[in-house]
Amino acid sequence: MSGLGERPIAAIATAPGLSGVAIVRVSGPGCLEAARRVFRKRAKGPYESHRMYYGRAMDGQTPIDEAMGVYFRGPRSYTGEDAFEIQCHGGSVAASAVLSALLNSGCRLAEPGEFTKRAFLNGRLSLDEAEAVMDFIGARTDAAARSALSRMEGALLRRLGPVEEGLLDMAASLEALLDYPDEDVEQAEVERALAGLDAALETLGRAIASAPALELLQRGVRVVLFGAPNAGKSSLLNALLERRRAIVTDQPGTTRDVLREELSLRGLPVVLSDTAGLRRAEGLAEEQGVALAKDELSRADLGLLVLDSSLDELPELPALSCPLVVALNKGDLPARLSEEAVERALHPSALVRTCALTGEGVDRLREALYELAMGQADVEDAALAGERQVELAKQAQAALLDAKQALPKGQLDLAAIALRQAYGFLGRLFGREADERVIDRIFEKFCLGK
Ligand code: GDP
Repeated sequence: MSGLGERPIAAIATAPGLSGVAIVRVSGPGCLEAARRVFRKRAKGPYESHRMYYGRAMDGQTPIDEAMGVYFRGPRSYTGEDAFEIQCHGGSVAASAVLSALLNSGCRLAEPGEFTKRAFLNGRLSLDEAEAVMDFIGARTDAAARSALSRMEGALLRRLGPVEEGLLDMAASLEALLDYPDEDVEQAEVERALAGLDAALETLGRAIASAPALELLQRGVRVVLFGAPNAGKSSLLNALLERRRAIVTDQPGTTRDVLREELSLRGLPVVLSDTAGLRRAEGLAEEQGVALAKDELSRADLGLLVLDSSLDELPELPALSCPLVVALNKGDLPARLSEEAVERALHPSALVRTCALTGEGVDRLREALYELAMGQADVEDAALAGERQVELAKQAQAALLDAKQALPKGQLDLAAIALRQAYGFLGRLFGREADERVIDRIFEKFCLGK
């Protein structure tokens, strides 16, 4: 139940702009009373839950729109409490008018993420599942959406739940031994606990190791194209995108701003930026372009250096803190720059011969970028996402290592304490005993109406 004076919350759940339909959502005790003042169904009789009604949206006596309305009796709703949805026409007028009529009828405007926050507080979702909701909405490729969906449906609990339960069992057995010492049992129990700890550490270690790949899947890999003017950066960008976008000329120094494009590599979102050439700048605009290129490179996950293989020229590389991929471009022209010379001088993580004009080698370049970004990670299988989750998993891991050290020394009390600590960290991961500020920080990143 809500506190005294708590009003139902309302928000537009669909994006603004021209669309067929818009949805306005209401949730909380009293929402049916508020909603029925605005939505007048045509059918007589009381509302049945989960049934869609045809009617009109009204602001007092003023008609707003033809609309549909659904009442969800709690706890069978997204938020776990009484909820109501009004579907009206899209565009900039109807949904705003419906929302304003709801606010006039006793609702208050929902904060970003407040519906999902209520779902969490009412036990409909664990905290990691709630975090996956925004990942799902923000997903940029099918693969990213599939991963978020499986996390939204409890992938992390399926993975770490058994580990968590095992920890409590182990702690309880050790505590029993402290109360009723028995040397024979102790030996067997310590061995059993050590084996259990190894299994738990293995599962946890794999989950932690997969987290960076999952982050890339969510936010996209930043690949920065750089190299001397005229090497074929823009042409290669177009070939990677399989459509024409960047301006290609045979005048050196034409790409002055940073151009960003997105593509999907086997479901991995990639943000490719094409920068100005890295040679010494000749004009002010170009000078700024070169500075932009360096700045862009400092934030890259991968640097993609494009070299013109028909020229015997190797550039001086700026300092790179990410793996380097070299595309030895213009493979159709007589070669004056060998792969060996490039390997020797630049030690790239991958080297691919390309011809941006015919598209030759471009698929191999895509593969090389994917392999370098994802490594051995199995993203389909990964479940641990985001800094908060990784941090708690690492704290649990550290506590398990403490327990593993204490056990062979016969320090059963310390081991039991460490096991309970690890259990506590995993519990916080799922949102048990979560700090209010932590919860607020998670949901304030949500969009309105979710
Ligand atoms: P950027 O300055 O590095 O972006 O280079 P552009 O993509 O604008 O290309 C410069 C010139 O090289 C253009 O005339 C392109 O058509 C040409 N070019 C790019 N890639 C190739 C290639 O693989 N082979 C040949 N022969 N010409 C290319």
